Amino acid sequence: MHTETSTKTPVTLLGLGDMGTALARAWLAAGHPLTVWNRTPGKADPLVRDGARAAASAAEAVASAAGPVVLCLLDDASVGETLDGADLTGKDVVNLTTGTPAQARRRAGWAAERGARFLDGGIMAVPPMIGQPESGGYVFYSGDPDLLARHREVLEAVAGVEFVGADPGHAALYDVALLSAMTGMFAGITHAFALVGGEKELDLARFAGLLTEWLAAMAPAGQEMAAPLAGGDHTEGVTSNLAMMAAANDTFLATAREQAVDPGLLVPYMELMRRRVAQGHGDEGLSGLVPLLASQPAPATWQGNR
Ligand code: NDP
Repeated sequence: MHTETSTKTPVTLLGLGDMGTALARAWLAAGHPLTVWNRTPGKADPLVRDGARAAASAAEAVASAAGPVVLCLLDDASVGETLDGADLTGKDVVNLTTGTPAQARRRAGWAAERGARFLDGGIMAVPPMIGQPESGGYVFYSGDPDLLARHREVLEAVAGVEFVGADPGHAALYDVALLSAMTGMFAGITHAFALVGGEKELDLARFAGLLTEWLAAMAPAGQEMAAPLAGGDHTEGVTSNLAMMAAANDTFLATAREQAVDPGLLVPYMELMRRRVAQGHGDEGLSGLVPLLASQPAPATWQGNR
């Protein structure tokens, strides 16, 4: 147990799940006095043995906070439940709970009504990357820039800091946008392995290496989409046009059929290409699909699992 007095900013952390515990360990390792609270009390015990103080309640943790109050809970509803009854007047609230942009904006307004400053964060890391600067893990932050400036040292002790503006919804938006891109990539990987998986003579480890290299080589296409999207000319600097790609899709679908693979993960994207070409935009690059998609709200049946 640490008994020496620290000169570092004290941190109050609500939520000791996998991510909260990783944050707690990193702050303790960096020498920040730490007060923790978790709905299920036993999770604080190992941290108390290593120098943290366990608060009796979330309200007590907030009342005694002399530094940032960090939340790392399951979802936005659990943030509301946890802070219900806590006096937030004059407190600096940093919410690292994953949520939607609208939830973050509402939570910022809710915190302001209660006299608190508010910063929202989206964690781009998994727990083993926390407190490990070489891992490349970072957190998107948006909201009160003064709060970030005041507590930057505290926040940098757990992960890199990437401030994306004063709109409190933007950290969640960047977070979910990156994770959505990742989801599409994993869908493509799943389809690729399904195509080759039934082949007896095929070396899956070799295939996996080639697949990974190919995706890394293609990833810069994402960077190249920023300029045409900002300028509105989707024919600018095109190396592979939509008409060519839409034609290639027929071969991809025929191969899926030959290999008895359900093409369902790819078809909606291919359909978007077909529609853009049919509208007379076959000379555009992939950025031309963005405005087409952005005008298409999800069907009601795709609203989520919960
Ligand atoms: P866990 O499921 O491990 O922990 C969830 C935490 O939320 C626990 O402390 C749990 O308390 C608490 N909780 C759930 N419901 C309530 C409630 N109604 N009231 C009070 N507390 C509640 O999740 P993680 O720690 O992994 O994730 C925390 C946040 O970090 C999430 O928003 C997640 O999206 C985000 N994140 C996680 C990553 C990861 O890889 N783990 C990566 C990036 C972001 P109890 O112990 O009592 O159940």
